Amino acid sequence: MSETIFSKIIRREIPADIVYEDDLALAFRDVHPQAPVHILIIPKQVIVSIDAATDTDAALLGHLLLTVKRVATQEGLENGYRVVINTGEDGGQTVFHLHLHLLGKRSMAWPPG
Ligand code: 5GP
Repeated sequence: MSETIFSKIIRREIPADIVYEDDLALAFRDVHPQAPVHILIIPKQVIVSIDAATDTDAALLGHLLLTVKRVATQEGLENGYRVVINTGEDGGQTVFHLHLHLLGKRSMAWPPG
């Protein structure tokens, strides 16, 4: 599996504003925030995208969603938030290491751009 900049963040080879970590997941602030709170939740194991996930990743994917909830609580997003998983070219994915965007502290529009 090819590495991305997120592998370097996991290994602390480049800095990031890390807000949560456990054995399976890491959460850190997006360097180009699209909302007052914009955090990326990633698995430490490299999965290129949600499209590359398999049945064996089911528990890990559930853990990532529960990590979103944990971090949202930590960030005080009691008024709601949005979770986004950009996938592939049409999905606007630019970093090919699965990540969940957690966006909050502003009202979100629908449909997304
Ligand atoms: P995507 O477009 O793949 O869904 O999201 C990738 C996200 O990673 C973007 O929102 C981008 O701002 C963020 N990003 C890219 N490189 C870095 C980095 O080195 N550090 C941090 N904290 N975020 C990054």
